[in-house]
Amino acid sequence: MINFINILFYSLGVILPILIIVVALIKPSKNKLKNVLNKFLVAVIIFLIFYIVKVGGINLMKKINDNNEIKTEHLTTETTKNTTTTKNTTKATTTKEVTVSNNQNGLKIIDGILIVNKTYSLSKDFIPKNTYKDATGLKYCSECIDKEAYEQYKLMKSDATALGLNIWIQSGYRSYELQESLYNKYVARDGKTAADTYSARPGHSEHQTGLAFDLNSITDDFQYTDEGKWVNENAYKYGFILRYPKGKESITGYKYESWHLRYVGVELATKLYNNGDWITLEEHFNLTSEYKN
Ligand SMILES: [Zn+2]
Repeated sequence: MINFINILFYSLGVILPILIIVVALIKPSKNKLKNVLNKFLVAVIIFLIFYIVKVGGINLMKKINDNNEIKTEHLTTETTKNTTTTKNTTKATTTKEVTVSNNQNGLKIIDGILIVNKTYSLSKDFIPKNTYKDATGLKYCSECIDKEAYEQYKLMKSDATALGLNIWIQSGYRSYELQESLYNKYVARDGKTAADTYSARPGHSEHQTGLAFDLNSITDDFQYTDEGKWVNENAYKYGFILRYPKGKESITGYKYESWHLRYVGVELATKLYNNGDWITLEEHFNLTSEYKN
């Protein structure tokens, strides 16, 4: 639709005024200067009218698109009700030397990677720094998403678009308060044990970091779509990991989420991609992901 508006603008708003001026210049006339100036004025008016229509039309279309893209919440399917929590029985070890730091805000940062899971949380007032100003399509805060992560996402999206795939952010940054209300809603619906397998408790959601995105439908079906398959195979090239891979539920503490990406940078993402056999942050850094209570 935006393309159509552009074509209309260039074919009528630009070409038509040029034609009018050219004709006025070629046409023999008694008062040529006056004639050309009159036609020029007409051309400018036509250009302005179409330009206003174009800008107004595109803004309207963007608004409609944004509304469509963000209409649903962090959806979960009925199957989550049947998922049971399994205890952390296997913990992979790593021989990698890492710098572990717990900074003054209580954040767990390892090798520059901010860790948020069931063991490590963010304070209520934590808000992301170095954010992208005016990211489009984000429901809750268009200025709260990490700048580098969002720029890499845009790159990924445009490469996907070139292949005829359509990916979008259904849920990006979420505040502590919003996560609290979502989690409470899920607990009321499915009970605490089930809710803990698919929804983070407030302060424990990666979405509060501004580094995590839920793509497209946020449903289990996403993995079977062309977009889901492509994301699984290619997201690491842009620095994203599949944070909750299949078969790693007991390590991450969450059920498989084909739609949830976490930005960690290309170098680490490539390691964790592991030729399609995803390694979790918990395995890589030898961490637990368990609530204390
Ligand atoms: Zn998510």
